[in-house]
Amino acid sequence: MTAILGAGMSGLSAAYYALKTSKVAPLVVLEATNRVGGWVRSIKQPDGTIFEKGPRIIRANYQNILQLVEELKLSSKIIPIKVNHDAVKNRYIYADNKLHCLPTNLKSTITKNSLLNYPLLSALWKDLTTSRVSKDDESIYSFMERRFGRDIAEKIAAPILCGICGGDIHELSAKSFMPKLVEFEKEHGSVFKGILKYIAKQKENMKNQEVVNSHLVERAKKEAWNMWGLQGGFEQLPQALAQNIAKRGVNIKMENNCEQIIFNKNSVELTVNGKVEKYSHVISSLPAKNLADLVQEQHPELSKELLDIPTVTIAVVNLQFSENVLPINAFGVLVPPKEQIPILGILFDSFTLPQNSNMTVLTVMMGGAWFEKYFSKCSSEEHLKTVAIKYATEILHIQENPKAFNVSILRNCIPQYIVGHAQRLNRIHDYISAHKIPLGLCGSSYHGVGVGDVILSAKEAVSNINLQ
Ligand SMILES: Cc1cc2nc3c(=O)[nH]c(=O)nc-3n(C[C@H](O)[C@H](O)[C@H](O)COP(=O)(O)OP(=O)(O)OC[C@H]3O[C@@H](n4cnc5c(N)ncnc54)[C@H](O)[C@@H]3O)c2cc1C
Repeated sequence: MTAILGAGMSGLSAAYYALKTSKVAPLVVLEATNRVGGWVRSIKQPDGTIFEKGPRIIRANYQNILQLVEELKLSSKIIPIKVNHDAVKNRYIYADNKLHCLPTNLKSTITKNSLLNYPLLSALWKDLTTSRVSKDDESIYSFMERRFGRDIAEKIAAPILCGICGGDIHELSAKSFMPKLVEFEKEHGSVFKGILKYIAKQKENMKNQEVVNSHLVERAKKEAWNMWGLQGGFEQLPQALAQNIAKRGVNIKMENNCEQIIFNKNSVELTVNGKVEKYSHVISSLPAKNLADLVQEQHPELSKELLDIPTVTIAVVNLQFSENVLPINAFGVLVPPKEQIPILGILFDSFTLPQNSNMTVLTVMMGGAWFEKYFSKCSSEEHLKTVAIKYATEILHIQENPKAFNVSILRNCIPQYIVGHAQRLNRIHDYISAHKIPLGLCGSSYHGVGVGDVILSAKEAVSNINLQ
């Protein structure tokens, strides 16, 4: 019997993929809370409007999830966002009290850019003329500053990383967050040259992708989707997944908090809600720091490595306005940390994933690596709401008051891949295999923080653990 810890996207996916392997033993999913989905949470307002607290947008190049959506019969709920949609073309940065559109086409790279005060081409020229440096790992700031200059690092890379993981580019690892760009420098001596070569070889690169047999994947390719979301809320995905695996015999045990794991020669003992249960294998989809506590007694060295993968806390404030109050059609606005305001970014949910009426839904993300700096003195819901409304209305020149809102603090919700993360993962994997521990790892703490990444990590964990 195999136990899967956690019923977020990765734990549920691990059970789903385990069911696809032929030699699978019975599966149990243990979830500490009373709901499935983990950070995926869609809150329905009384008027039917959806407020997303966690993920809402998935990049279309993650074919696995599209296949999953199709197999779970959710295809009709997909809202595709095609490459020519304004949410794909228009990404804004708020700096010096102004909104600046990021350059996304050739013309905008050669004309003077209001954010940089010079054409992006100058930064690309720096990259083309700067010699390569070989480093084991370095911060994203160091990498971007070396290749493209300080402005690109501070005004473009820094806010983009705030949007992806709420992290500080002075601490995040270039190797773990932008492995392709690091590889391009190594191989071609220039990131830009590498990108051009990669684009030229795109057909070949596509051929090397795993072939996924799915109508939805074919449709996404044919219609040139860039990203997609789910009508009615993203939480339908984990819910449908949980129903699907439960129908096929997986026992999903809610309010089952795993407190300790002891690996014996031929079994694994889990202490769950104070009682010991025996299993043959364990797949953990828990955040690394939660797993660290469970193995601390028997494997302190492993526990320490897991504990050293930090996380950040994000405050999420959803705002609903009764009219279209957006001054621009775009995906949203990101704020560089050097602006010293307590906002990571604002997502224009109702523009990217329209709901029924003409109203506007925004999500203001705050905190991340700067949560303590801005909110350690006061993090009450009222204060967070006031801050979110103040900056959203100021940045977007909104005159109206929101008609509804929702405030949440998502404590330790996004792992941070800091410099040395890749080496730490190697040490974790080496430790597990050297000690022959029947433990598979998946989830956002290791090989990618997005939903697409964690689903892939679940598939890989299942194939590596050799369930019998
Ligand atoms: C605000 C926000 C916005 C995001 N937006 C996007 C987006 O637009 N697109 C995208 O691709 N990704 C996005 N993400 C990332 C995405 O949410 C994560 O990649 C994904 O949800 C991680 O899922 P998981 O299953 O790995 O982990 P989790 O969701 O953390 O699930 C782990 C589960 O384990 C349970 N658990 C913990 N400890 C125990 C224990 N001891 N015993 C039993 N159970 C336990 C938890 O209760 C939880 O249910 C966003 C994340 C956040 C926080």
